[in-house]
Amino acid sequence: MSIRTDRSRQLLAESKRHLAGGVASTLRAAMKPTPLFAVSGSGPYVRDVDGNEYIDYLLAYGPLVLGHAHPSLAAAVGEALRRGVAFGLQHTGEIELARLINELLPCSERVALSGSGTEAVMLALRLARAYTGRSKIVRFHGHYHGWSDAIFTSFPSPDMKQAATVRAENVTPGTGGQSELGLQDIVLLPWNDSGALERTLREQKDAIAAVISEPIMCNNGCIPPKPGYLEKLRELTRELGIVMILDEVITGFRLGLGGAHGKLGVMPDLVTIGKALGGGAAISGVAGKAEMMALIESGEVAHLGTLNGNTAATSAALATLRELIKDGGSAFVRMERTADRLVEGIRSLLAKHRIPGLVNQAGPVFHMMFIREEKVEDFDAFNKRDAAKYARFAEAMLAEGVLIRPSGLWYVSAVHGEDETRATLAAIDRVLAGLHG
Ligand code: PMP
Repeated sequence: MSIRTDRSRQLLAESKRHLAGGVASTLRAAMKPTPLFAVSGSGPYVRDVDGNEYIDYLLAYGPLVLGHAHPSLAAAVGEALRRGVAFGLQHTGEIELARLINELLPCSERVALSGSGTEAVMLALRLARAYTGRSKIVRFHGHYHGWSDAIFTSFPSPDMKQAATVRAENVTPGTGGQSELGLQDIVLLPWNDSGALERTLREQKDAIAAVISEPIMCNNGCIPPKPGYLEKLRELTRELGIVMILDEVITGFRLGLGGAHGKLGVMPDLVTIGKALGGGAAISGVAGKAEMMALIESGEVAHLGTLNGNTAATSAALATLRELIKDGGSAFVRMERTADRLVEGIRSLLAKHRIPGLVNQAGPVFHMMFIREEKVEDFDAFNKRDAAKYARFAEAMLAEGVLIRPSGLWYVSAVHGEDETRATLAAIDRVLAGLHG
């Protein structure tokens, strides 16, 4: 099968004359055969300017937990826009949203709202430094915490030009033009290595303000923590007076109503949330211990943002969370069931076509890779995958009417169902049959 992309290609050329790079976020430029221009979306489907319709597993890089154009979300945002999109004054929607987040996330006593995951991480790091009076931040190789100067480090990625072959220990900037000063405070460790973690935290305890970690390494391989690893991280940080931050920008309101920390039963001091929180609207936040968040109230830590808590974003978040809590959180059961079927189906198709590969799954998020390893439990193993082959697979899937990320990460929404699963697995079957080399 093939698809027409003439109009998307024309628009990209036109866009490049006006918009730097022709796309609004660097990752989007990597899409093959060409970055697509969307027209509209509905439920699990998205349509482009050439008239193609795709089953969507990109889901705007994660946020569309209710699929496209969910009626409750559309109504809530429409109503907010009619009332006034932003005031620079407080409104009751912010209180309602913060109250709901505090009820849902086990670690949350207070919430601070911001606009993107990157900003939420910046605020969490600032709170940790102010709270401890220390400056170093421990982070893990292969995790992603946004693109601010404070934390963006390079790692091998087929999507990004800069990375090449960067190894743990080497704290190198993630982009040209990045100040290296902030990175002097970053201690980069391999993830899932309790020994390295304990040694480093004990040796540098007087300098380390925080450890920040994705609870599951979703950005590169959907790798779960080894049994006891996050518990060890919790124990050590508590003992040494270090702030434990879980970056739940992907997992928050995705793995369950209580986020990954609710599911895994590990209580961080602070979490960052974004993506699914707004169902696609630009909203994020930091949630956690009242005594740390009190630094905002006392004025010691600045928390700024002209459009923080704007009515459109807070209404979108409230509508999303209200849909997610309906029927005791049945949306999560649906999402997980769909993801389970897809993952089982993909595994048996890989076996049927004798293509070495595997899928790592974290609820409704999973990472499919072509790889000879039997298991992928750390970033080094993940980097043995055949990324070029997967990019060819993703391109061929697009021609079959299925939109997936060229990196291998899939998201499933609460509105993906049986029909989409069946059609997707049939497409994978056809594509794997023709995937040589
Ligand atoms: N943290 C994590 C774990 C993420 O996955 C991302 C985005 N992929 C971010 C932070 C940054 O979020 P944003 O793109 O909204 O700035």
